[in-house]
Amino acid sequence: MSAGLAPFAADPRCSRGRRHAEAADPLRSEYQRDRERLVHCTAFRRLMYKTQVFINHEGDLFRTRLTHSIEVAQLSRAGARLLRLNEDLCEAIALAHDLGHTPFGHAGQDALHECMAAHGGFEHNLQSLRVVDRLEQRFPGFDGLNLSFETREGILKHCSRRQAELIEANEPGGVARRFIEGTRPSLEAQLVNLADEIAYNAHDIDDGVRSGLLEVAQLDDLAGIGPLCREVLAEHPDLPGQPRRLLFEVLRRMRTRDLTDLATTTAAALDAAAPTSVDDVRRLPALATLSPQRRAACDELKSFLLHALYRHPQVVATTDAAREVVHRLFDAYRAAPQEMPADFAAAAERERAVADYIAGMTDRFALREFQRLTGEQAFPSALHPGLAGVRGVAAPAGSAAAGDARTSR
Ligand code: MG
Repeated sequence: MSAGLAPFAADPRCSRGRRHAEAADPLRSEYQRDRERLVHCTAFRRLMYKTQVFINHEGDLFRTRLTHSIEVAQLSRAGARLLRLNEDLCEAIALAHDLGHTPFGHAGQDALHECMAAHGGFEHNLQSLRVVDRLEQRFPGFDGLNLSFETREGILKHCSRRQAELIEANEPGGVARRFIEGTRPSLEAQLVNLADEIAYNAHDIDDGVRSGLLEVAQLDDLAGIGPLCREVLAEHPDLPGQPRRLLFEVLRRMRTRDLTDLATTTAAALDAAAPTSVDDVRRLPALATLSPQRRAACDELKSFLLHALYRHPQVVATTDAAREVVHRLFDAYRAAPQEMPADFAAAAERERAVADYIAGMTDRFALREFQRLTGEQAFPSALHPGLAGVRGVAAPAGSAAAGDARTSR
């Protein structure tokens, strides 16, 4: 067991290995190598220009999939250190967890799933595994990044029975087996999953307020945030005049509180179950959890964000336009595969190749391709009207708001 790691942590020396055998690296653990392969891969760089909630061209200061993934990695590492889990494995899983996302966030995924309905569907989590297993082409001897079993296990966080059986057929006893047997992944994977939720709950509030679609006052009634707002205001009576500082302090405390709750609750569950290996962890019920009180507050916040932000009419108007872009790109490439790069055009399963090609696009590349193939502009107004003039939101070039709106901190 590596120094400092708990007995139930993933130990890279006991890894279940890579699909293509590779010699051990004298300087780096298997999970460090995975992390570094991910940082160097093309799909990782594309995350910079992919939507989290707001379409990438709507502003320079909103989260992207890249900054989201870095926040998840940071929270996961902090949690791993508290629980003596493997930080490198957590970081590798966190950096990879969103690699399969389409352009334009969930709207893009939903549209691609509709396009692929008769061809096996499309699901971003399965696509993340497909990116690291097949679509990245960086090694002479094999496709994909040849990541360790434990990193791939963490990437595949949900999977239908039917999909699990398909993966299992190609990889017997592999990463999909647990969905057939009903077992859990490593604690590192469980931790990253919850760190993802802690990260987006906090940053979507920040981005929602920045966009002008949410107001800080709306947070007062939420059990998970209202008390923090009051606590911060009691300590800093001058903050009502500085809503951004108030919000940052509240969100900082919220992240710390949620991560501390996660670590404390999980440590108690580990004490009670007393696993002595990662295989014990896999056989036991989920051990990484929030307390019931925090779980309820998190669920309330998610429901608030769903109604107040993700389904805000102005967000929906933009995402409807994005769905249209994905549908029409899909139809265009399916009818004329030669419009794609040669390796995609030559693929035997045309629809899957089109889906892979579109899923890999950044928001802005998808918009450029849309214009090239249709002669139309996808977002003629350049941004949805509610965002014009909001701090940090790029206004259309030459518009009156352009000077102000480009001011950033
Ligand atoms: Mg995520």
